[in-house]
Amino acid sequence: MDISEVLKTFEDKFEGTQVLRNEKMKNHTSFKIGGPVKALVLPKSPEELLYLKDICKENDIRCEIIGNGTNILFSDKPEDMIVICTFGCMDKIELAGENEIFAESGALLSKIAVFAMENGLEGFEFAHGIPGTLGGAVFMNAGAYGGEMKDVIKTVNAASGTYTNEDCDFSYRRSRFSAGGDIILGAVIKLKRGDPEVIKGKMMELSEKRRSSQPLNMPSAGSTFKRPKEGYAAAMIQEAGLKGYTVGGAQVSEKHAGFVVNTGDATFEDVLNLMKGVQEKVEEKFGVKLEPEVRIIK
Ligand SMILES: Cc1cc2nc3c(=O)[nH]c(=O)nc-3n(C[C@H](O)[C@H](O)[C@H](O)COP(=O)(O)OP(=O)(O)OC[C@H]3O[C@@H](n4cnc5c(N)ncnc54)[C@H](O)[C@@H]3O)c2cc1C
Repeated sequence: MDISEVLKTFEDKFEGTQVLRNEKMKNHTSFKIGGPVKALVLPKSPEELLYLKDICKENDIRCEIIGNGTNILFSDKPEDMIVICTFGCMDKIELAGENEIFAESGALLSKIAVFAMENGLEGFEFAHGIPGTLGGAVFMNAGAYGGEMKDVIKTVNAASGTYTNEDCDFSYRRSRFSAGGDIILGAVIKLKRGDPEVIKGKMMELSEKRRSSQPLNMPSAGSTFKRPKEGYAAAMIQEAGLKGYTVGGAQVSEKHAGFVVNTGDATFEDVLNLMKGVQEKVEEKFGVKLEPEVRIIK
């Protein structure tokens, strides 16, 4: 079957599921960059998601999965592919075992954090301001302000099986899933009992820190580069004099040198060229090769 036939077969089987044809990925990425893919599908359940993944595989059709698109730089002219999006559809959040929460991969971290707070569960505050989904966060062991997914994940259900925290091989901004090819369906999060007021206070304090230091009013994908072992990417970029460095519509943020922002009409190439320029200048000055944190899909 070709892509159209695969989509038709899927739609016949799962009536009512949203299949957006020729959908521009700029509508689904926080960078607001990305051209049209053959279709973006919003599955209502893991069964639908796995069915689509399997028929794509059987028919040799490229299939990518995204959450909230907050760590992605998508090509303006992507190859033919189907994109499965879990955000806005597979987003159940519920209490599980003692001090545990189960959430589907499309649940936003901010919503899980509020749910934890309302249920007097402490330890997820660090993730409240990270704008991604649980799936995207497990994929790259997202973290902030001293916490990371590694500290709170008990088990992960993926297309290939169920994994304990240890099996996930979490390390700085990576997990066993980072190599791609698998699909995270949901996870159990293990927390401690805490006072909702104290939890809320911590979340507000971290939000304020974020607001005052990050360019949250401009499209971006968060930190562009991973932290190298020699220090902080943002500090190196700033010391190399690159704050405000611009290529087309892409710019190193004036507010936080670790962020590349889209000033309005940045293209995929603008961001890639800007990133290349930053890498070259930082390597020249510090002898450090910065590695991208954002995932590039073309
Ligand atoms: C303003 C801003 C601030 C940010 N701050 C932080 C921060 O403090 N700390 C931090 O770690 N990150 C931060 N980020 C980056 C981003 O929010 C995180 O990396 C987040 O975990 C990405 O989740 P997502 O759902 O948006 O993933 P996406 O961007 O949609 O996807 C990212 C990767 O995960 C894969 N993926 C997504 N869902 C699944 C799934 N269900 N199964 C398998 N693979 C999947 C995708 O294929 C892709 O390769 C920030 C981003 C922005 C825009």
